Amino acid sequence: MKAAVFHKPKDIRVETVEDPRIEQSRDAILRVTSTAICGSDLHIYNGMVPQPRSMVLGHEFMGIVEEVGPGVPNLKVGDRVVVPFPISCGGCFFCSNGLPTHCENSNHKTYGPEGELIKAKGAGAALFGYTDLYGGYDGGQAEYVRVPYADYGPRKVPDNLTDEQVLFLTDIFPTGWAAIDWAELKGGETVVVFGAGPVGIMAMKSAWLQGAGRVIGVDIEPYRLDMARKSANAEILNARQMDVIEVIREMTGGYGADVCVDAVGMEAHRSAFEKAMNVVQFEKGSMKVLEMCLDAVRRAGVVTVVGVYGSPYDNFPLYKWFDKGIKLMGGQAWVHRYIDHLLDLVQSGQVVLNDIITHEVPLSEASRMYDIFNKKEDNCVKVVLKP
Ligand code: NAD
Ligand code: ZN
Ligand code: ZN
Repeated sequence: MKAAVFHKPKDIRVETVEDPRIEQSRDAILRVTSTAICGSDLHIYNGMVPQPRSMVLGHEFMGIVEEVGPGVPNLKVGDRVVVPFPISCGGCFFCSNGLPTHCENSNHKTYGPEGELIKAKGAGAALFGYTDLYGGYDGGQAEYVRVPYADYGPRKVPDNLTDEQVLFLTDIFPTGWAAIDWAELKGGETVVVFGAGPVGIMAMKSAWLQGAGRVIGVDIEPYRLDMARKSANAEILNARQMDVIEVIREMTGGYGADVCVDAVGMEAHRSAFEKAMNVVQFEKGSMKVLEMCLDAVRRAGVVTVVGVYGSPYDNFPLYKWFDKGIKLMGGQAWVHRYIDHLLDLVQSGQVVLNDIITHEVPLSEASRMYDIFNKKEDNCVKVVLKP
């Protein structure tokens, strides 16, 4: 089959690889019909999340069931499904408690400070196409993909919905939803989302759906802010053109926002990353978004973090967090917990997800699209690949 194979940073090629096959009784094989490139894929693409060997990327995909193992009674050949990005068993302590991203049974590896393998229970879920660190499973930017625990993850999609309408249930909509869910809105809150990328825009849409009274998007790319305004009806602030902390305080009677979401992650903290990882290939001096969130939130407010961090972050302003009494929560989204409700929201027309797609191209163009998405060229917000 053809697949987008990561070889080394900035080197992704579509080439012929071996077809996946059923390896465990709870596996299914999907014929992928649509798959997206995620901001998380860029961490691998840019070498910020290391991957030493070649691997098929892609954790946002859906398709048609081609083959099922004997342990997947709920799916049959021909079913059309969308698949959560964490590989979770459904039965362990964490899965049973609605925390699928902490699954103990999917071969996630966690390493200690000296690089030693920690085999603690609850090491966290593996992810599709997300490096050996996250289990080493091939991903879905391919014609076919093996889906472990296929009796637990995949959700059948109603025929009347197109791929584009439901594809983002795999990751970015549940992730944006989680960012707001963790803030436990009571209604009427001012929510500021840093990052108007695909995840940030999904958080803005989720904020309205969960009862926010005001939604403000912050980014440094005007065309992304434009998308946030059009697609998520957000007020927008360009952090390159103003002191956004001051402006947010002015907008909130001097208090600061009730909730701030970091939907940017470690790219904005490159100098800390460089120091931690002893690498120098990234430009220095970018704005530290997590710190901006702590500044922009009101006292006793909530900061949630869905942007990915993968290294120590020194000089974290603990005193601000402590003094302001800020509730802080972050991590990977509990996709399996949210996905059925979110599918209902799509099905009933309460939310539209596909309006952020700016590029839909054959899988064969994956390499070029990674480059464009990474450089934020061609007004690119979200890329969908069609195998
Ligand atoms: P993206 O790279 O397309 O978007 C990031 C946005 O942040 C861009 O629009 C960029 O212009 C903006 N940005 C950069 N520096 C900024 C700054 N200083 N101030 C304001 N905005 C700034 O990525 P995405 O797909 O939207 O993903 C965003 C983050 O969410 C990534 O870190 C990704 O890995 C992460 N993510 C997390 C989960 C999860 O489960 N927690 C799931 C999916 C993605
Ligand atoms: Zn993703
Ligand atoms: Zn589990």
